Amino acid sequence: MMETPLYIDTHAHLYDEAFQEDVEAVLSRAKAAGIVQFILPGIDASTQEQLEALCDQHPESCYPCIGLHPTSVGENWKEELTLIEKRLSTRQYYAIGEIGLDGYWSTTYMAEQQEVFFRQLCWAVEQNLPVIIHLREATEALFTVLERFRKEHRSLPKGVFHAFSGSIETYHRIQQYGDFHFGIGGVATYKKAGIADTIPFIPLDRLLLETDAPYLTPVPHRGKRNEPTYIPHIAERIAQLKQLPLETVAATTTQQARILFQLPD
Ligand SMILES: [Zn+2]
Repeated sequence: MMETPLYIDTHAHLYDEAFQEDVEAVLSRAKAAGIVQFILPGIDASTQEQLEALCDQHPESCYPCIGLHPTSVGENWKEELTLIEKRLSTRQYYAIGEIGLDGYWSTTYMAEQQEVFFRQLCWAVEQNLPVIIHLREATEALFTVLERFRKEHRSLPKGVFHAFSGSIETYHRIQQYGDFHFGIGGVATYKKAGIADTIPFIPLDRLLLETDAPYLTPVPHRGKRNEPTYIPHIAERIAQLKQLPLETVAATTTQQARILFQLPD
């Protein structure tokens, strides 16, 4: 008999208000479907305590990260960074994230976003932690930061470009600036998603599975709240695009997630 493949959701905002009522049921459903570990990316100080409380209740499956999200960069960005720096010395985190640049929601603080991203990249390398990068409509600004980082630092960052939607050219360009994986989520299951054209060219061992729950719900559940239980739909889509067995996609992405985030088995 075939065993159910084991999966890791490398990007789930399970501490979000959307899960306030039923997070325990969400976790049980996910575990029953083979999704056994969850990476919880931080956004800003307003939700960090809920995030860590949930991880403390589920230390065997929920792993905390911390970071200032680009859309949370505002006039208080220095205080936010000070809080993160303090917390970093108080407990174990599995990544710095999510961090990065977002020119879609607003460009008002784009200069500050770049500075905030740069400083958090430095902390990650100093602490030997991976980064979780959010990039939306700011590709050239991202390369400006990565170029500055490469000039000023000896070691390159490692991490994941979450919800990657770039071209194969952008994929190759990114690889020159660090050891990066690429998070694939529900968008890959949408009709006309550009990422579906890129996935066949990215080696399987560079891909990670993620939901971004409660957002970006995959087909056939699109329109509903997203949750980790839907991870196999994303794995099936990758298997189809790369013409590989589902078990291979599950095993490789799970192994890579464990290596990148230094998770226990
Ligand atoms: Zn996210």
